[in-house]
Amino acid sequence: MRVILLGPPGAGKGTQAVRLVERWGVPHISTGDILRANVREGTPLGQEAKRYMDAGDLVPDDVIVGMVGDRLAEPDAATGFLLDGFPRTVPQARALEALVNERDTPIDVVLRLVVDQDDVVARLTGRRTCAECGRIFHVDTDPPSQPGRCDDCGGDIVQRDDDREEVVLNRLEVHRTQTAPLEDFYFERGVLRDISAVGSVDEVTDRAVAVLTEYDAPADGGDAA
Ligand code: AMP
Repeated sequence: MRVILLGPPGAGKGTQAVRLVERWGVPHISTGDILRANVREGTPLGQEAKRYMDAGDLVPDDVIVGMVGDRLAEPDAATGFLLDGFPRTVPQARALEALVNERDTPIDVVLRLVVDQDDVVARLTGRRTCAECGRIFHVDTDPPSQPGRCDDCGGDIVQRDDDREEVVLNRLEVHRTQTAPLEDFYFERGVLRDISAVGSVDEVTDRAVAVLTEYDAPADGGDAA
């Protein structure tokens, strides 16, 4: 199963990705998570990426494409993967296409999470993230049981620097101008499928599972929550 999750920042890609990879037993490849890990560890890649991320701008295509190429070459990605936050530009999509064609492992489906811009601003500015394990919470709709502490690992819950309102507005503009054109790119290739990202997390997961099951049965037989 080779899947791309598409949709604006705040559509719920990260939240859904975690649930879907559990069912299908494929790696969750989130370019944002890989970049944030590099920033935390202070690697040269992280140092270069940080200034773009803090402003809500995109990290240059060549940096991202090299990073994803390396990740897809790891053994766990041989039988499938779920890409979250990549590709984000048409040049990235072309580079990915070249890579998967070379290996004769085409993308099965591009699942687009559809949501209104106003919803997205509220989702992102209220979003909080565990600094340790990356679990996502929301101040209104999904708060942690203990304020400031992750329910899963006990780590500190923080607001991502790029979830501040002024950065959110730039990220949405970047999405509109640079990432939205990918919808046509994948529509023309006949792999684009839309689901509504409005409703509860479970409802959206159910819609995503219904579409993905058309392409490949879940590895767990579909019983996982
Ligand atoms: P995300 O967690 O997917 O919202 O990504 C956070 C930030 O990382 C973005 O605002 C970009 O600065 C950077 N980033 C993540 N994925 C990409 C990508 N595919 N291309 C360029 N920049 C990216």
